[in-house]
Amino acid sequence: MSGKVFLVGAAPGDPGLLTQHAAELIASADVVATDALVAPEIIARVPKTAELIYVGKRAGAHTVPQDQTNRLLIEKARQGKRVVRLKGGDPFVFGRGGEEAEELAAASIEFEIVPGISSAIAGPAYAGVPVTHRAYASSVTLVTGHENDDTTGVDWSALARLSGTIVFLMGVSNLPIIVRKLREHGAPESRPVAVISKATTPQQRTVTGTLENIEQRTAGIATPALIVVGDVVRLHDAIDWFESKPLFGKRVVVTRAREQASELKRLLKEAGAEVVQFPTIEIAPPSSYQSLDHVILAIADYQWLIFTSANGVDSFFGRLRHHGKDARCLSGVMIAAVGESTASDLRSRGIEPDLVPEKFQSTALLPLLDEDQHGVRTAVVRAAQGRDELIDELRRRGGEVDLAIAYETRRVTASAADLHDIDIVTFTSGSTVDNFFEVLPDSSVIDGALLASIGPTTSDAIRRHGREPGVEAENATVAALVAAILRACDVGR
Ligand code: SAH
Repeated sequence: MSGKVFLVGAAPGDPGLLTQHAAELIASADVVATDALVAPEIIARVPKTAELIYVGKRAGAHTVPQDQTNRLLIEKARQGKRVVRLKGGDPFVFGRGGEEAEELAAASIEFEIVPGISSAIAGPAYAGVPVTHRAYASSVTLVTGHENDDTTGVDWSALARLSGTIVFLMGVSNLPIIVRKLREHGAPESRPVAVISKATTPQQRTVTGTLENIEQRTAGIATPALIVVGDVVRLHDAIDWFESKPLFGKRVVVTRAREQASELKRLLKEAGAEVVQFPTIEIAPPSSYQSLDHVILAIADYQWLIFTSANGVDSFFGRLRHHGKDARCLSGVMIAAVGESTASDLRSRGIEPDLVPEKFQSTALLPLLDEDQHGVRTAVVRAAQGRDELIDELRRRGGEVDLAIAYETRRVTASAADLHDIDIVTFTSGSTVDNFFEVLPDSSVIDGALLASIGPTTSDAIRRHGREPGVEAENATVAALVAAILRACDVGR
């Protein structure tokens, strides 16, 4: 049995630019051989069962020589493995993908090429520089910036005469030579130039200028970087959309459990933030489904069903399915939802909650429920760890209340290595605040950071730890939390 090698483009920096095909291949790989430039979020997709090998090189620091890489790919394929060779950007754009493919062909190893989004195209795009434009450039030329002596193939006089766009890769350290060669061959010193560093990442930096002044302006710029020469660079000021996002350059901590963090992460990233995940809890199934099953199997006996979180809703409906039931069994039951996200989770299942208190607090339901609870049976669906005030009060009013434990929150300790240069910390519950301060190795790392709270209970928890929340969301949704952060940052600008 013979294996197969996939030469796969792995996005230029922003992991969101990975192609669907690449993601599927990574998920099914036996061996992943990757360049050092590939984003950690993409490496995180490599299945635990796969062998992960770094064959990458950065300028100056060759990890594994090319011929050794070729041999490795061939050897693994001959062992019958599905080998995914990940390369930054596109495998055939200065990625030596051509050489690897030649070797594979010569060794009669089956292979496929999976194009990726090249930094040569995506970098300018994220810098607001269209590589072609009807008014400014009718061609784009990709050139290696490595080739700095006259014996290599770069035709400088042809490049200098081009009126289209030139993109140099691997060239920042040779910028002085590139500028000099273009000038020597007649390019005007007024030709616009942009250098785009760490393109498509939260550290992206674009510096623009001309052949005359770009060198001074880019002293010490970080790599990887690419150089764009041509009139299209003029459009940067008007089209710059990425570096001008409101939270661009800000490092924002998300303390929410990974399982719940996706919407908050998406909203923050869309606003330009660099998201630092530091979950302090994780959501896990309950140690026993007994109490939840008890409620589900006798659901028609309850007048009220109270959900206090979207997790509770998810777990409840998962369990309902487990018992071969669906939403129809809730037809006679009144439903209350604490929190907008809990309510919208129910709505997405076709259920309009009868009661949603304005505040994201289970006790906020109390004024809305009958003062006399005699003869009323209520089930409260929530985490094992939770506040009992609602239940106690309903019982005091004469009601019969059952607790249905739908999930557990467990404490986890994330790596604190990323907790540096923090601008904003987001908190979405009182318990995440408590856990955060408990596991934080050094609380000075958040000195000066804006503490953003989702609501009053969370804000109180922040105050209990001797800090003042900088912003509080107007309602208990992550959208309102992000909106509050944006307002605060806008004022600060
Ligand atoms: N196959 C890759 C290029 C590999 S050569 C692609 O298609 O993108 C490596 C060079 O690509 C670097 O020296 C740099 O010039 C450029 N490059 C790669 N990623 C980059 C990034 N995120 N920002 C700026 N330049 C990048």
